[in-house]
Amino acid sequence: MDQIVIKGLQIFANHGVYKEEQEKGQTFVVNATLHFDTSKAGRTDELSDSVDYGKICELIKDFMTQYHMNLLETIANRLARKILMAYPEIEAVTLEIEKPEAPIPMKFENVSVKIHRSWHTAFIAFGSNMGDRLSYINDAIANLKADMRCEVKKVSKFVESRPYGEVEQDNFYNGVLELRTLLEPKELLEFLQAEERHAGRVRKEHWGPRTLDLDILYFDDMVIENDDLTIPHVDMQHRDFVLVPLSEIAPYKRHPLIGLTSKEMLRKLKDSYVTRK
Ligand code: ATP
Ligand code: CA
Ligand code: CA
Repeated sequence: MDQIVIKGLQIFANHGVYKEEQEKGQTFVVNATLHFDTSKAGRTDELSDSVDYGKICELIKDFMTQYHMNLLETIANRLARKILMAYPEIEAVTLEIEKPEAPIPMKFENVSVKIHRSWHTAFIAFGSNMGDRLSYINDAIANLKADMRCEVKKVSKFVESRPYGEVEQDNFYNGVLELRTLLEPKELLEFLQAEERHAGRVRKEHWGPRTLDLDILYFDDMVIENDDLTIPHVDMQHRDFVLVPLSEIAPYKRHPLIGLTSKEMLRKLKDSYVTRK
């Protein structure tokens, strides 16, 4: 991807753990690489088709002088998100914040923190089989849309399906959405779990009835396996109530482990749970 590079932007500010740093201030140096497609601006020669790096320098300066933070890590993380939220056409930011006058009682050249942050694409399966099923799902989608760190790109039609597993319960509404997000996988899981709680979900039995269930199917092409998060979702390839809506919005997206597209996985299924499309 193309890059616009801002190098050696000097900003006097008061960040730091020590009182002296906070009172006296010091010079920070910012290097920012903005990853985005410059081809349109390259054709039209219009600033409105590019990213105005002068404005980004202003944004960096305002951010660094307006707030106080102890750590370079915090500044870098928050600033990267701020740039990505303010300029959604920028896909990713590499940000380095240097502190050449850091209070270290030795001779040294520089210390810095360097991070890379980008937008991600996630696919999320939603389901509800208790109470006002459509409202629970629509409220959650509205809350995702309202969050600056998220952009809902596509929402499938809802399907109605009979319950999966052994528990006797009502039919579900299910669907899948595509999300562009600045949240990292764990943060996204926490966000979705907060939405489930907001919908009054109580966990009693596994695969039991619920007001709202939000599962992460894919997160870019990442493979994650830890105690509370498995991506791709471990059982998605067996569920037509996931693969029918997924095939509608991302028919050719390939499962990073199984290697099949949504449509190919759907074609292989024997059991059907979807009762109405
Ligand atoms: P299933 O995951 O088989 O559809 P479920 O949705 O009913 O079952 P929950 O009770 O909603 O299961 O979730 C149990 C745990 O699964 C959660 O606490 C969460 O930490 C974990 N989990 C692991 N991977 C994922 C994922 N990809 N998306 C959502 N939750 C996940
Ligand atoms: Ca689930
Ligand atoms: Ca779940």
